[in-house]
Amino acid sequence: MKVYKVQGEGGEYFLPRPCMHCENAPCANVCPVGATFQRSDGLVLIDHRRCIGCRYCMAACPYNARHFNWEEPPHTPEELEHPYSPEEPWPHRRGTVEKCTFCAEEFSEGKLPACVQACPMKAIFFGDASEDAVSNGVETWKFSEVLKREGGFRLKEELGTRPRVWYLPARR
Ligand code: SF4
Ligand code: SF4
Repeated sequence: MKVYKVQGEGGEYFLPRPCMHCENAPCANVCPVGATFQRSDGLVLIDHRRCIGCRYCMAACPYNARHFNWEEPPHTPEELEHPYSPEEPWPHRRGTVEKCTFCAEEFSEGKLPACVQACPMKAIFFGDASEDAVSNGVETWKFSEVLKREGGFRLKEELGTRPRVWYLPARR
């Protein structure tokens, strides 16, 4: 996940920028071979066995959420033994594009994504919008209520990508 330093009204703050898993995902719309696809639950994933490395998806993503493996990525012995799937895309492959998967393999096992688990301030919440509940592993909030109360917003709304990542304004 990329993290940007942003100058806001009250000073500088950090803005984590994972893949937004857009509902209307430009990256999936331009992929010529269907390597980038949307799962039935809305997750946007890449099948690296199909990816031809054209990087159209990188040009199409307005959130700069993807990167390209120009070199052979370093591999641990465990990664080399790992059975590949788009949900668990190891071992990483040279000449293909990668991005955040929302740790698909974690939440299919009922766990929260790694960034949510690791955040020491418990600032990141995750959940299923259809259940209207999000959790940081300690607290659970009603998603619609917190967006309304805190003034939740999405990045580049005007593009119509309908990102699934929402931000709450920085507080001092
Ligand atoms: S943030 Fe970029 S890579 Fe992620 S789904 Fe949206 S367009 Fe695709
Ligand atoms: S780089 Fe791979 S995932 Fe991206 S558009 Fe090309 S084939 Fe699809």
